[in-house]
Amino acid sequence: MEFCEYCGNLLNEDGRCPWDGCPHNAILDAMAEAKAADEKKDKSEDKT
Ligand SMILES: [Zn+2]
Repeated sequence: MEFCEYCGNLLNEDGRCPWDGCPHNAILDAMAEAKAADEKKDKSEDKT
């Protein structure tokens, strides 16, 4: 079990905070977006 580092709520099973407005969720979203952008970039790059 993990607790949110911002509000102390018990995190959901998917790792998100039950409080929708929590910065924890905003960071998760930003990281997921950055990861998705990275993967997109990797695919478009020609690796030899
Ligand atoms: Zn939180």
